[in-house]
Amino acid sequence: MIRFDAVAAIAVLLTACSVSQDQEVALGRQNADEIKAQLPLVTDPAVSDYIQTLGESIAKQTSRADLDWHFYVVNTKQVNAFAIPGGYVYVNRGLIEKSDRLDELTGAMGHEIGHVVQRHSVKQIQKQEGANLGLVALCTLTNICHTGIGVVAVRVGSDALFARYSRHDELQADSEAVVNVTRAGYEPKGVTDLFEVLLNERKYQPTLVDGWFDSHPLEETRIRQADAWIAQVKRDPSKPPIVDSPDFQAFKARVIALPLPPPPSPPQGENNQR
Ligand SMILES: [Zn+2]
Repeated sequence: MIRFDAVAAIAVLLTACSVSQDQEVALGRQNADEIKAQLPLVTDPAVSDYIQTLGESIAKQTSRADLDWHFYVVNTKQVNAFAIPGGYVYVNRGLIEKSDRLDELTGAMGHEIGHVVQRHSVKQIQKQEGANLGLVALCTLTNICHTGIGVVAVRVGSDALFARYSRHDELQADSEAVVNVTRAGYEPKGVTDLFEVLLNERKYQPTLVDGWFDSHPLEETRIRQADAWIAQVKRDPSKPPIVDSPDFQAFKARVIALPLPPPPSPPQGENNQR
């Protein structure tokens, strides 16, 4: 009888630890605060407003239009973008600078939005919680799942936050990107055209794009699959898709002109080392 109770209790704990939308948003908010403290986010209002408006134009076409979406530009030349749970999406200035056209940037943003829509990071966190009874116990003993999912996030979120997405997740995010940028009125071909830009960049400046390839596996079959979706996606024949815009080019020029942040200061004591 005792044994049965214990099994039942663990089952309840696992259920309690599945992450609700409120918890996901709280988790995202906490991680967003940490990111704000640690990464050089661009604060130029014209840049911030543009990326927020652009991101929302896509996110509001998704099945998670109800989330409070936030979009930021990170002041680094590294070509990358990432998303954290709850609707927070980060685009590095390097990615904006390497996007030839607006539809390439919307393709990348559509992909990151797709990871949030499909809750890929949340699912990774749930998997880790389920696999770690210590954390499940912590979750119940402290009621942390209901009062402060963030503390659990400190334990597991750092891995999940920058985890390498699986091939399956990448395909799902691409599929979301193609559908949602098209609904938002952008040319979906930008999704795969940006892949070509990244692959080309890898040939000449691999260190600039390493981050992207580490977190988002990309190979030829993935590009072919996305091209197939693009060929099939339902378009509005009355409206020509947006490929580029003067506003985007002005935004890009403004991003290119932004000063880079000062390099991080060396750790204490390093000057004494020989
Ligand atoms: Zn991805």
